[in-house]
Amino acid sequence: MIPDETVEQVREAADIVQIIGDYVNLKKTGTDYRGPCPFHQGKNRNFSVTPRKKIYYCFVCHEGGDVFHFLQKKLGVQWPEAVKIVGEKSGIEVKEIDTRREGPDPREPLWEINATATAFFQRLLWDDKAAAPARDYLAKREISRETADRFSLGFAPIDRAMLRDHLTALGFDERRMVDSGLFVKPEEENSEIRPRFRGRLIIPIFDVLGRNVGFGGRVLDNGEPKYLNSPETAIFGKGKLLYGLNWAKNSIRKDERVLVVEGFFDVIRLMAAGVESVVAPMGTALTDAQAGILKKYTRNAYLLYDSDQAGLKATFRSGDELLSQGMTVSVVTLPDGEDPDSYVSSHGAKGLEDQLAKSIDVFERKIQILDRAGWLS
Ligand SMILES: [Zn+2]
Repeated sequence: MIPDETVEQVREAADIVQIIGDYVNLKKTGTDYRGPCPFHQGKNRNFSVTPRKKIYYCFVCHEGGDVFHFLQKKLGVQWPEAVKIVGEKSGIEVKEIDTRREGPDPREPLWEINATATAFFQRLLWDDKAAAPARDYLAKREISRETADRFSLGFAPIDRAMLRDHLTALGFDERRMVDSGLFVKPEEENSEIRPRFRGRLIIPIFDVLGRNVGFGGRVLDNGEPKYLNSPETAIFGKGKLLYGLNWAKNSIRKDERVLVVEGFFDVIRLMAAGVESVVAPMGTALTDAQAGILKKYTRNAYLLYDSDQAGLKATFRSGDELLSQGMTVSVVTLPDGEDPDSYVSSHGAKGLEDQLAKSIDVFERKIQILDRAGWLS
């Protein structure tokens, strides 16, 4: 079989216009490409290819699908063969793996321990007396149990032994606990491993395919840092992941836009309010890798950062990364003192959409800032 991840990679890398263009004489029409349909032998340009959605469709015979489906129909090949052909044309090597011989993905042990820890943290959040501050925090932010469960929110105990004992009882060894980033091995020899997250509200982080690759932990008192993330591991690289993308990806394609917000809770609150095409980088500004990922889903980005100094900096840095990917970047400026989370809770999804409609181009926003600072007068 071909691993799902490879299929996804090939799909992302494929230039559907170029590949179908080898068989159909396509001409650009607006954002689509049109040509005579090869399936009903049409003469008129009723066959359309939409690169942004990576699909084709014939308005006469209603034949449609993705690039793999096109080659299956056109060349009469089986699906794995179609994936290989597209891979070859897109510079991605497609290897079929023999699942019996090669065994599971070597990263599976880490996804597994993370998922096990998530279930443990989730149970504690609702059952443990010590998790009361975490429950209070969620209540204060108006995050319901249902929403918390949807995002698998949990609580990491203050106690140093609970998680380790739980994982040990399930057969996980110390090496895996440390490799997952859930535990830290102190440098001093013979010292015990200790949990990275203690007394924090836990936000599990998933990759685009929904695998539990890491965690964010929010402090519940005045401790520092306010947010602590998993360290870089074999499965977690925070500059290469976008929080929320596993849930948002289909909506981003459908809505033909992505909203970039600052934090975990902006994503959670917006999604809970029904605004699904939203992601958050796990630093303040987007990295070039993250911008590159977003470009595969849409060309339109809306930046919703705070209007303070740090927020503006992040806005312009993110904007530059997105622009260098050829994306259209708009900046949404919420009223003073509001962030996406608070705004959607007081004005609803409709109110937020109104703000998006009032957004301005990132260049305009720069000029506005310079003007207000007196640079242009
Ligand atoms: Zn047709």
